[in-house]
Amino acid sequence: MVQVKLLPTPEQAAALEATLRGCNQAADLVARTAFTTQITREYDLRKHTYTVLKARGLGAQAAQHVIKKVADACTTLKANLRAGNLGPPGSPRRTRAESKPIAFRPHAAQPYDDRCLSWQIEARTVSIWTVRGRLRGVAFTASAAQLKTLALYRKGESDLLCRDGMWFLIATCDVPDRPVAVPDGFLGVDLGIANIATTGDGARHSGKGLNAVRHRNRELRRRLQAKATTSAKRLLKKRRRAEARFAADTNHVIAKRIVTEAERTGRGIALEDLQGIRERVRLRKPQRVTLHAWSFAQLGGFIAYKARRAGIAVIHVDPAYTSRQCSACGHTDRANRPEQAVFSCTSCGFAEHADVNAARNIAARGVAGWAVSHAA
Ligand SMILES: [Zn+2]
Repeated sequence: MVQVKLLPTPEQAAALEATLRGCNQAADLVARTAFTTQITREYDLRKHTYTVLKARGLGAQAAQHVIKKVADACTTLKANLRAGNLGPPGSPRRTRAESKPIAFRPHAAQPYDDRCLSWQIEARTVSIWTVRGRLRGVAFTASAAQLKTLALYRKGESDLLCRDGMWFLIATCDVPDRPVAVPDGFLGVDLGIANIATTGDGARHSGKGLNAVRHRNRELRRRLQAKATTSAKRLLKKRRRAEARFAADTNHVIAKRIVTEAERTGRGIALEDLQGIRERVRLRKPQRVTLHAWSFAQLGGFIAYKARRAGIAVIHVDPAYTSRQCSACGHTDRANRPEQAVFSCTSCGFAEHADVNAARNIAARGVAGWAVSHAA
């Protein structure tokens, strides 16, 4: 994915705004049809709604994308219900989701294919369909690396979206992965709350900035939730999104450093299996669970993605007892970890920062796991 920022003129921005609004109103209409008829397959939905959408002034492609967007949202909702992500049957959240049609935000992202969006990469402009006709020469900004990726690998759909008054296109790019090199050992990565990621080499990526932002926002949320006015709700939503973006940026930076270090030293990367992380976080305060499980999953995903692009082996290991086991002699004992940050082996006397010791255990399990899976 490559995200570029559009620089529309005020008239162009107004046309884009009218387009997103129109497409999402149309999507609401299709969603209502889906809800009342219980038809959710794209092909069947098209039979019921395509003519109506065309009559509302949507082009053929836009109408099809709107219908597909609704069908996809129905599929996602069904999967979430099935997986229990909205609570057990009868719970308020689940009942709310089941009792009304899916609703789209006025500025929810809209997919575009090559027929309604074309890229002039050298000129840094796009030509894009809107409800007010086709806009030509809409300027965008991108880094040199992004422009190169767009020119070589852009393929398929792009999403148009508006965030905090700014316009973006997110283009799908099909970058081929490099073949995975045989690793010369593994760099172990321990994920945590105080230190978001710690490597076996001793590099600790602190979560200080992120935790401070989260703490501030939690306080603010508490105050605003008591108010419950429309403007308070809007501010809350804006803060939540800013926090998610900040977390994603932090995770990108950490992932990049870890992948660069593994690449420089010719090693693979060993990560904790995410299921294990979720269970470990669950032992802590409940409100942290979703937040951190989600953030860890994102960081793990970024590392795996960047590693794949660079041809670096990634292995996921069972994280059980990595914090209690001695990375020097293997002795496993709860007493090896007298404090949160301290590891001190009661058998051989080895001492190290607890997260670094855990990361080394993860690295050792990575080596063992790789040997097993590549024995043939
Ligand atoms: Zn020991």
